Amino acid sequence: MSQKNSFSKPELNTEDLSIALYNTTQKLEQTNSLLVKTQKERDLLFANISHDLRSPITAIRNSIEYLLSLDAIEKEELDGTLHLIERRSIYLERLINDVFLLSSININQNMFHYETLNLTFLLEDFYFSQLEDSKYEQRNLELDVKEDFKCMVSVDSKMLLRVLDNLFTNALKYSHAGASITLSSYKDNTFAHVLVKDTGIGIEEEHLSKIFDVSYMVESARTPSSTTGTGLGLSIVKAIIEHFGGTIWCESTVSKGSTFHFTIPYIK
Ligand code: ADP
Repeated sequence: MSQKNSFSKPELNTEDLSIALYNTTQKLEQTNSLLVKTQKERDLLFANISHDLRSPITAIRNSIEYLLSLDAIEKEELDGTLHLIERRSIYLERLINDVFLLSSININQNMFHYETLNLTFLLEDFYFSQLEDSKYEQRNLELDVKEDFKCMVSVDSKMLLRVLDNLFTNALKYSHAGASITLSSYKDNTFAHVLVKDTGIGIEEEHLSKIFDVSYMVESARTPSSTTGTGLGLSIVKAIIEHFGGTIWCESTVSKGSTFHFTIPYIK
């Protein structure tokens, strides 16, 4: 026996139709402008990367040509050129790794291996490992994790350590001897809050909103001596924290220092 379809088509009048059409057009326009923005950002990323890849490659090629042109190679001359090749190769490797990581975070869901862990222990372990690291010899490292701060979170621990490492490395890089770097945390009803505060050079207000953008480096930091940074570090940090369901921002005053503040939802 065949069953009759009891659903009847809703009747739409002209007014409903034009409202529906208007809403659809609005949504299409929004999607379109998002696509244009994404494409612009991608083009900017590729332009920056091809520029940044070109200069170390040129330096490496020139150095090799120079080495090949030498008849009798003097040890000292060789040393300087080989060190230049080494530095430029390290930078290139770091840039390629960062670009790969940043693009993988968004497209490869299997990149993250989530586990439930105690955030307090992870922060303390991280802090004490930095304390032992001689590169922080001329900084005052401080830990301010409240006794009652017990927080279980679902994160990829390697990725979270990368975030902390990146923020600490920046705090070191953008501060002078004698500066303090403090790791602190607290929680509200939903989120664990983690803060990395330094008393370093600070960031001008006009740059603050852009430092998490792909390949944005504050021009003054883009000096020949700052070959360690690829400018992608904070974009990677932001992508990781957002993958965890949190947010990150920065507050800063020039000559006084910066505080990088991120949140992660915790398990109740
Ligand atoms: P980089 O690899 O250049 O350090 P990041 O993405 O980590 O790139 O940082 C982007 C820019 O933000 C840096 O070039 C620097 O100008 C600024 N910055 C980041 N952290 C700090 C900090 N703790 N103090 C001052 N400036 C900072």
